[in-house]
Amino acid sequence: MATILFNDVVFGPIKSRRLGISLGINLLPDYSKLCNFNCIYCECGWNRKGEKKEFNSREDVKVTLEAKLKEMAVNNELPDTITFSGNGEPTMHPDFAEIIDDTIALRDKYAPSANVSVLSNATMSGREKVFNALLKVDRAILKLDSGFDETVQLIDKPQGSYSVATVVKRMKKFNGKMTLQTMFLKGELDGKRVDNTEKIEVDRWLEVAREINPREIMIYTIDRETPAPNLQKVSIEELEKIANRARELGYTVQVSG
Ligand code: SF4
Repeated sequence: MATILFNDVVFGPIKSRRLGISLGINLLPDYSKLCNFNCIYCECGWNRKGEKKEFNSREDVKVTLEAKLKEMAVNNELPDTITFSGNGEPTMHPDFAEIIDDTIALRDKYAPSANVSVLSNATMSGREKVFNALLKVDRAILKLDSGFDETVQLIDKPQGSYSVATVVKRMKKFNGKMTLQTMFLKGELDGKRVDNTEKIEVDRWLEVAREINPREIMIYTIDRETPAPNLQKVSIEELEKIANRARELGYTVQVSG
């Protein structure tokens, strides 16, 4: 499959389905993926065994981001969002909290109207430093693909211990200052049916969403080729049906088909 790996600390800007003109920051290794999930739909592909834990340094991130923001300011092309994403899970970086502080300072100086966003699988949010850093950004976009442990195991393949109950408990601590992000998909994996759009799944997902009570919800589906074959996109009509159920509960829901 065609994987997308970033070889730059700062990449883009790219036109994002969800975030507008987004300048990306990759804290993970260049040219290889590092994540504590191994999602069957990951655009970076499957995790590879023995992947080195090499992170882009705090200094490199700061210097590169400052140079890019200066250039964008001169060209009057400032981004809507500065987004931490890249080749894996950004909160795994040992200096994640300090990098967030640097980034907010640079944003304030060069692009005060841009949001700082972090796309995260929420697994590290139990660490106080990571949690506090996520609270500082404009949009902490935290993944939860199902309210059932078995489905998360199937879709996201956490590489360590994981429980939906624990993650929900951590998400509740954000007191609404977070975005809940869920990938909906269908298909088959190793002879098992995968479908988190089934009624039982969506009912449970809504219960969990109510418990977390996020400021907003983003739902999306597969956009590109996936590492696991035999996965299918969910139609925009189905996504809208799911979104409408959440909207009926009073949530703002963004749909990307
Ligand atoms: S959490 Fe994100 S980076 Fe990690 S495997 Fe899943 S989609 Fe890929």
